[in-house]
This record gives sequence, C-alpha cells and structure tokens, in this order.
Amino acid sequence: MFLFNTLTRKIEKFQPLQNSVVTFYTCGPTVYDYTHLGHMRTYVNNDLLRRTLTYLGFQVKHVMNITDVGHLTGDDDTGEDKIEKGARKAGKTVWEIAEFYTNFFLKTITELNILLPQVFCRATQHIQEMIDLIKILEKKGFTYETKEAVYFDTCNFAGYGKLGGQNLKEKLPGAREEVYVDKEKKHPTDFALWFKRVGRFANHTLHWDSPWGDGFPGWHIECSAMSMKYLGQTIDIHAGGVDHIPVHHENEIAQSEAATGQPFVRFWFHNHFLMVNNQKMSKSLGNIYTIEDIKKRTLEPLAIRYQFLQSHYRSVMNFTWESAKAAQEGFRRLKNLVSNLHEKNNETSKSQLSVKAKKYEQEFKRIIANDLQIPQGISLAWAMLRDKNLPPHERLSLILDFDQVFGLGLERLTLENIPQSVINLAEERKNARQVKDYLKADRIREKIETLGYLIEDLSDNRYRIRKKFRTGQSAF
Ligand code: AMP
Ligand code: ZN
Repeated sequence: MFLFNTLTRKIEKFQPLQNSVVTFYTCGPTVYDYTHLGHMRTYVNNDLLRRTLTYLGFQVKHVMNITDVGHLTGDDDTGEDKIEKGARKAGKTVWEIAEFYTNFFLKTITELNILLPQVFCRATQHIQEMIDLIKILEKKGFTYETKEAVYFDTCNFAGYGKLGGQNLKEKLPGAREEVYVDKEKKHPTDFALWFKRVGRFANHTLHWDSPWGDGFPGWHIECSAMSMKYLGQTIDIHAGGVDHIPVHHENEIAQSEAATGQPFVRFWFHNHFLMVNNQKMSKSLGNIYTIEDIKKRTLEPLAIRYQFLQSHYRSVMNFTWESAKAAQEGFRRLKNLVSNLHEKNNETSKSQLSVKAKKYEQEFKRIIANDLQIPQGISLAWAMLRDKNLPPHERLSLILDFDQVFGLGLERLTLENIPQSVINLAEERKNARQVKDYLKADRIREKIETLGYLIEDLSDNRYRIRKKFRTGQSAF
C-alpha cells in the first residue's frame, strides 16, 4: 500500500508498526449542529481508506472521537464553545444538544454506509485522561499558566510547525487580528490545554475540577488523550480534513510528542474540501446541505457516496445539484447492471477465477493500493462490467468484490425479491458458520434448498442467494 503522508509531503510505502494491525484514528465531529455533506466527504474518504486497508489484508483498529466540549468558534482559542453557543441558541441543555447532533451524525454515516469505528469516544467522558496528560506536560516544563488558562508553550517544542511546514516567526504576535486575546498569552501559536471558569467563561455550563481550578479542556488535548488511550503512544494513521493541518493537528503533534518523547503519528491522511461555488462548504458560510436535503430532492444517500467516489481524496471537489443528479443516474445504471447480472446468472461462481477475471482483480488492487485511486477503481469497474468477454457470473463476482471497498451496498441488490424468511434462514446459517457449527449450517442449507433457493458462500462469511430454478430450467 502506498499513501501520501502530509508529514513528509510524499507518497510512501505504508506498513503498519505491528504486523498486519493498523491503528487508525479519525478526528470526529463537533456535535453542535447538523453534520453536512462537507464533513461527509471527509468521513466517506476515511471509510474508503479503512475498507481498502481491510481489502488488502490488514486488520484495522479504528477509533473516532466526538467533540462535545472545548471546541471554540475560533480554532485559535478565540470565541466561545460551539456546544454552549448551540445550546443557548436552541434553548436546550448542552447535553441535549450533543446527544441530538451525535444521533444525527450516526444516522447520516449509517445512510452513507460508512463503517462504524470499533471505538466511538466522547471528550466529556475522558476529562481525567486529558488532565493526566496536561500534568505530564506541566511536569516536563511545556506549559505555563495565566489567570485564564493553562497554555502549551509552542516556542519550547522544537518541532512545532513541522506538519504544515510553518515557521513560528511568521506567526508573531499581532500578525493576525484576534477577536479575543488573553493578555498573558506569550505567543499566538500557544494553545489552551485547560480553560479556567473565569472571565469570558465564568458561566460555562460544562466544567470539571482540576489542579488548575474549575474549568474545561481546550479542544486539541482530547484527540491526543483518546488516541493514546485506545491505540497507544505511536499510531499508524491519523485522519482529518486539510483545515486541521495548521492548528489542530499541529497542536496534537506538539503536545503528544512533548509528553511521550515518541512520534505521535506515522502517516497523516488529509482530505481536501467539498466546495460550493468555489467556497468551502461550511456552516459559517451558510452554504451547507445535509443528508435530509439530499432525500428531499429524491436523491439516494448512496448516490452521494457514489459521487464522492469519483474525486480523489486529495483534490478539491465542487458540489452542484447537477453533479448530484448525474451521480444518481450513474448509480441507478450501476445498480441496474448488477441486478441484471444477478438475474441472468445461472452459474454458481467457480472457486477459481478465470485468468481474465484475475487480471481485473489484480489491476483493482494495484489501483487502490496506489494512494487510494478510487476514481480509477470506478472506471475499471465500469470497463469490467461492460466486458462481454467476461461471463456474467464473473462480472457479478468481481463487482461485489470491488464493492467491499466502494461500500455502495450492491450486495443488497442480490437479495431483492428473495423472501424475508429465506434471508432469515441464511442469516441463521451465517451465524452457525461463524461459530463453526457446520452441521447446523448444512441443515439450514438443505431447508433453504427445499424452499427453492440456492445459497452460495463468498469470502468473509458473506453469501449470495439465488432462485433454484428459472422458467422451467434447472440452474445447473
Ligand atoms: P468539525 O466538526 O468542524 O471538526 O469537522 C469534522 C471533519 O470534517 C473535519 O475533519 C473537517 O476537516 C472536515 N470538514 C469540514 N468541512 C469540510 C468540507 N467542506 N469538506 C471536507 N471536509 C470538511
Ligand atoms: Zn482531532
């Protein structure tokens, strides 16, 4: 696998630190408003990376955080806490706001067929881990305290700026207009590890006791604390949007490496923006669309996923309703083709693929392992589906195989028109096979056959069901 690494600005060969297990952390959403398609472009691409790694034989340990405290409206410690602001505006509690928008986020990613991480962790449930980390930084002399906050002293960390290639001196005090400045803050790049519940934050609803007084954590420390807790001091891949490079991720590196003396992340994976009329899709610009807007226009969420698959993660992508409609049309044609192949398919797929089919499989692997060239993967899939020299059952087999990476839910199409009772039996059989109860699995297979259906086993304990007889003709 080859991946572009923001840290080295090069495409490098990727190999996990321990054998075949990949430790993968994704910066999750700040849950103060409806998650929009801009966020989803990032999360779909993170999902494509995870699926690709799995497809290529790695085992991925995936952690994602939920930011429910400490993310201020300005990334540079200015403004107010986004959740507190959202709660005030809606006349709800901060907990209600966080829960409501977390649920909306979960619903959205499920509709886009994004795999759930094995660990979903909330900042508010990891306050102690953050305090412990700040204590280490304090002990090692990387912090200073003002009346308002505890700051990380960026001038004291030699590698500061290495991710975004920034020079500290370019960010001298006064270099930018800040809405609010703590007069005792020494350098604009210094960032809050802990905010005290005083001054502008005197009425902050979320607050915890700490060695530096009652208050709440700064935004960046949560990702370091949770990444280390669940994945270890050095992880393989950390993902997020490109807007996180200069502040959030730079700060994560500084505080983590200052605390442990170890590299924090080996590969930084950054996704470029989804734009609308040449501007980043973002709440502050008022140009956002959510998954509900998609459905209101009778487009399918998975058609939007299909649309995202057509742009490489490192290029800017423009969103228009025309392109969304075109993606819907392309997705409809793809689904029709797969359904037709399934209908026509009279053969059980052979355990051995033909030489030609194998070539397609190898080419697909090569493409996706080359810094995730998913758009090329989609082109290859279409060329393969239109290749009349390839028997239908092989085309079907290959597209379902590729779809383990695309995540377009194409396998579900092969279950359409199959009675629910048969699907239930197939699921029961799948569970039996999982616990290696092959006797039971065989009994269920026979039952399925007596109902007139054939079940075929695929890799990863997946299966396909087909009608046993077609218009008076045996399937064999
Ligand atoms: P936030 O909730 O603001 O922390 O954003 C969640 C994730 O979505 C981050 O990784 C952002 O970089 C990413 N993101 C936000 N807006 C966009 C956009 N317009 N296009 C792509 N990614 C975005
Ligand atoms: Zn983060």
